[in-house]
Amino acid sequence: MQRIERVRELQAWSDGVRAAGGRVALVPTMGALHPGHLSLVRHAYRCADRVIVSIFVNPTQFGAGEDFSFYPRDLERDCELLRELGTDVVFAPPVKEVYPEGWSTWVEVEGLTGGLCGRNRPGHFRGVTTVVARLFHAAKPHVAVFGEKDYQQLAVIRRMARDLLLDVEIEGAPTVREPDGLAMSSRNRNLSEEERLQARALHAALREAALSVRAGERRSAVLIESVRRQIAEQPAACVDYVEIVDPDTLDPVASIVRRAVLAVAVRFPKARLIDNALLETA
Ligand code: AMP
Repeated sequence: MQRIERVRELQAWSDGVRAAGGRVALVPTMGALHPGHLSLVRHAYRCADRVIVSIFVNPTQFGAGEDFSFYPRDLERDCELLRELGTDVVFAPPVKEVYPEGWSTWVEVEGLTGGLCGRNRPGHFRGVTTVVARLFHAAKPHVAVFGEKDYQQLAVIRRMARDLLLDVEIEGAPTVREPDGLAMSSRNRNLSEEERLQARALHAALREAALSVRAGERRSAVLIESVRRQIAEQPAACVDYVEIVDPDTLDPVASIVRRAVLAVAVRFPKARLIDNALLETA
């Protein structure tokens, strides 16, 4: 496994693979890897011959007062896990390599970024699209893999790729969960033991809502109220949002016609957790 820190070096590596007829996949991460990230790498190998995993805690997607400075970082362990998986390249650049002195170009997707996480995290998605566009130019992938856990992020990146005519296929991969249903996240390690137990309520509530829809409930307001109540029963949990939206436009829907996405964000004292579930009528 190669460890690369410089953009030019990564571009040259990717050019070499492409020239030899190989297909390159990119898996962007912020490190502190868990089995959810590793499943994306396995997914990437099903779509490509060679895989680059980027590890970069992107400062521009964190707002003031968010957890940039105490976001977990463990590059040596991450590299060990990726080496065991047979990853070709880890791209772990310093901040200056991604954001050179005097940079002034942002990439921003409008509309899709206004609701859900975008409402309470102004500028977050602008940071995400700005860094992902840069990573695409650095890695020159044929395909890039993102997790469905970050549903809005995946939708925003798909739109960016389409709008900018990027020659990169965007692949979504399913959410990997703990045995009790909690979506794996680097931020879970910031939960106390007691909060960790309470966090089970997120997936439990989402699953119950999905079952209610199968059983005939179609009213978003009723489903949202029930999810809110179940999460509010957890003393350390504070609901940021519970919304039911159209899977493509992310606009709120009053009733479920065929398919919708139920998305939640919940704040614990030291971790903000998100999760989602697809609601299907049949
Ligand atoms: P992060 O390091 O949290 O920025 O996440 C990097 C990538 O891993 C993103 O595409 C996430 O959606 C994805 N990811 C994070 N957690 C999970 C999970 N539990 N299952 C699947 N993918 C995940």
